[in-house]
Amino acid sequence: MSPNLATTSSTRWFDLADRVLHGHELTDSQALEILAAPDEEILDLLAAAYRIRHHYFGNRVKLNYLVNAKNGLCPEDCHYCSQSKDSDAPLEKYRLMTQEQIIEKAEHAASLHAGTCCIVISGRGPTDDEVEHVAGAVRTIKARHPEMKICACLGLLNPDQAQRLAEAGADRYNHNINTAESYYDEICSTHTYRERLETVAAAKKAGISPCSGVIVGMGETRHQVVESAVALRTLDADSIPVNFLLEIEGTPLASDEEMAARAANPDIDPITPRYCLKVLAMFRFVNPSKEIRASAGREEHLRSLQPMSLYAANALFLADYLTEPGQAPDMDRQMIEDLGFEWEAPQP
Ligand code: SF4
Repeated sequence: MSPNLATTSSTRWFDLADRVLHGHELTDSQALEILAAPDEEILDLLAAAYRIRHHYFGNRVKLNYLVNAKNGLCPEDCHYCSQSKDSDAPLEKYRLMTQEQIIEKAEHAASLHAGTCCIVISGRGPTDDEVEHVAGAVRTIKARHPEMKICACLGLLNPDQAQRLAEAGADRYNHNINTAESYYDEICSTHTYRERLETVAAAKKAGISPCSGVIVGMGETRHQVVESAVALRTLDADSIPVNFLLEIEGTPLASDEEMAARAANPDIDPITPRYCLKVLAMFRFVNPSKEIRASAGREEHLRSLQPMSLYAANALFLADYLTEPGQAPDMDRQMIEDLGFEWEAPQP
């Protein structure tokens, strides 16, 4: 790399970060430039993303802990999901946990000093009884651990159900858009992108902080990754999990044909560690003040570059994902300490 290239690259990305910090809304073409940045510019790009991240979040890292309160048995066909009706992935299926079991898992989250405990159930959407059941657990957890935030992720939600969760003390509701609207029909046919947006809106209207994110690597183009990041800006999601597809054997997206088709398509970026970093940087530039979480797939796809993700992202999931193992919490703690960052203590 010539000295000139280094100077031009750092000036270019820092100028853009400064403009974002002064209120500039990133254009689609600027977001695309980030995804297309030459690999030799990654350090400059991440340093610029870090300038934005640091402005809003300092060196703090928020930690979320997932409670998989109901596993499998889903009638929907999300092609990436091991719990879907079209998945042959071996899975320990179980119905909704008892309130005591959910509370016990939340106690574990508290013992790990997770700032947010996410209660997740499989399925298209909860019954009213399921909402009441989870709401009861939320009340108890909030009474015992008022400092810990509770995020519910129960599928498509109607306004009444959202209201009941809000009244129980749920702080946040997660429902991912998963991908760009223009690609959505390729990954799910049993419910619509519009229904997903309506669920996020219902949570927001009930006064619950909306969380919505994506899974990158499902065969979408670079333009569609940008489309999803911009859609989340429009949706005003407070928290944005950025997942990278885990190709779980037995799911449609992990079939040999699907994987070969993705690999052969020149319009689809391979999910390399460097591309993952560019994606996270782009999400930070597009959604500068939002919580951006390096989520499922970070270990597998970022590999040895995983710590660098925290220069753009400011949050992680601790321990395991819903059906797949994650890095041990001690390793996350070590990674955060090695970076000189701080594990964010739950806030009262
Ligand atoms: S993502 Fe949710 S709705 Fe879709 S198949 Fe999996 S459990 Fe069902």
